[in-house]
Amino acid sequence: MAVSGAAREALAGEFPGGVVVEAEAMAPHLVDWFGLARGAALAVLRPRDVAEVQAMVRACGRLGLGVVPQGGATGLVGGALPDDAERQVVLSLGRLNRIRRLDPDDYSCVAEAGCVLQAVKDAVAERDLFLPLSLGAQGTAQIGGVISTNAGGINVLRYGMMREQVLGLEVVLADGTLWNGLNTLRKNNMGPDLKQLFVGAEGGFGVITAAALRLVPRPTARAAALVGLPDLPAVARAFHLARRLCSDLLSAFEFLTPVAMAIAREASVNPPALAGDCGAYVLVELAAPGPVDLDALLEGFLEAAMAEGVVADGILAASGAQADRIWALREAVNEGQARRGVFLRSDVSVPLSALPAFVGRACAAIEAAMPEVFAVAYGHFGDGNVHLNVLPRTPMDPAAWKPVEARAKAILNAEVDAFAGSISAEHGVGRLKRADFEARLDPEKRALLLGLKRMLDPEGRMNPGSQLG
Ligand SMILES: Cc1cc2nc3c(=O)[nH]c(=O)nc-3n(C[C@H](O)[C@H](O)[C@H](O)COP(=O)(O)OP(=O)(O)OC[C@H]3O[C@@H](n4cnc5c(N)ncnc54)[C@H](O)[C@@H]3O)c2cc1C
Repeated sequence: MAVSGAAREALAGEFPGGVVVEAEAMAPHLVDWFGLARGAALAVLRPRDVAEVQAMVRACGRLGLGVVPQGGATGLVGGALPDDAERQVVLSLGRLNRIRRLDPDDYSCVAEAGCVLQAVKDAVAERDLFLPLSLGAQGTAQIGGVISTNAGGINVLRYGMMREQVLGLEVVLADGTLWNGLNTLRKNNMGPDLKQLFVGAEGGFGVITAAALRLVPRPTARAAALVGLPDLPAVARAFHLARRLCSDLLSAFEFLTPVAMAIAREASVNPPALAGDCGAYVLVELAAPGPVDLDALLEGFLEAAMAEGVVADGILAASGAQADRIWALREAVNEGQARRGVFLRSDVSVPLSALPAFVGRACAAIEAAMPEVFAVAYGHFGDGNVHLNVLPRTPMDPAAWKPVEARAKAILNAEVDAFAGSISAEHGVGRLKRADFEARLDPEKRALLLGLKRMLDPEGRMNPGSQLG
């Protein structure tokens, strides 16, 4: 029997009911959210509890197998998709889905890694609390995944990235040891903050099995508006005004270029519309848990911005349903691009103050060099985070698109470098951005990361092929 067959049998024998080997049953674990990227694995392991995670990691060590932790598989850089059918397994955390503790007086909860983000948000909302991480994939993404990618989303401006929501972690290390760092202390300076090593490590340093999470009072009021502006520099001026005039209660400030807005409209049914076309658009939202007149704050901002000529037009949502319609437009940008077929998806950041200049320059550079494509830019303005995507003007099949996409990416990344930005603001490195990540590592950071990797995973078993694995 081939070595891989023997390894599969050994795993199935040791963990009855916890090992999936049939191609059809493995398939959902070997494809990305958009059905484009595909992976390959010897088996999918589905541990029932933490002890079984430890046993499985140890068994994989004995059998010489690489372990690829997987949450909801909504990551956009191929981090959770193994690429070796002989020597890698998926370790799917989905069965570790208990909320172990919810303590309103401590503003914290402890959730297992396989809890779906939306399920945790719903559970804490019942106690009038809020887990402040909001993203399009929250109905599928899991706690372990959002921590391992240090996910962002639309509320970073107000609450920070996932890193800021993590108070403690429980982690199975590469040799099967369990590290219990599940405390809920806000202040703990007894040495360096070790848990941060695992946040954003994309499974390369160990398997997160549970997390203690920081909660905040649930916002009970919100006010939202769709705003039209003359151009991107005006978006920057509007952002600064909004921060000052809205008592720092901004919970989101998302921008769209006119092309992004047109694509969102294509994919929307009866979208909210401003009177005329504008040079840029913003979706702005304020939220608060207490008795604050958010509508008055938002109206005050709009009036001041119009008086200064920064805002050309705006619709204030009169109800929660209208606010949802405004937000549906933002989600429709993704849908509209996906419907058109192949495209270059990016997730880059630059210093906030440089964002308008960067977007203008990068879009112009790509379209000047490549008349066959056009650029779509939108994103989290307040975080300096842009999804600057590139689409073919006429439909292309994936094979023809590949070299075009590579050229567009090279031009985009050169612009990001020129603005001292990051080629991965939120989505991580995974397998898809590994080469671009390595090309930008300075020798000191590379040495530090490799040293950590050697210490935590000396045999290179954790998520091989991803990040520095
Ligand atoms: C429609 C859509 C919208 C999105 N919007 C955003 C957005 O606004 N902001 C944003 O930041 N991201 C966004 N994403 C990307 C994605 O949702 C996030 O990266 C999310 O954090 C991934 O969670 P997951 O459970 O699906 O992780 P997976 O995709 O399963 O895994 C991601 C990485 O984490 C590792 N991992 C997973 N679980 C564990 C664990 N328990 N222990 C150790 N390592 C683990 C995997 O090995 C992999 O490297 C979006 C994705 C989609 C499809």
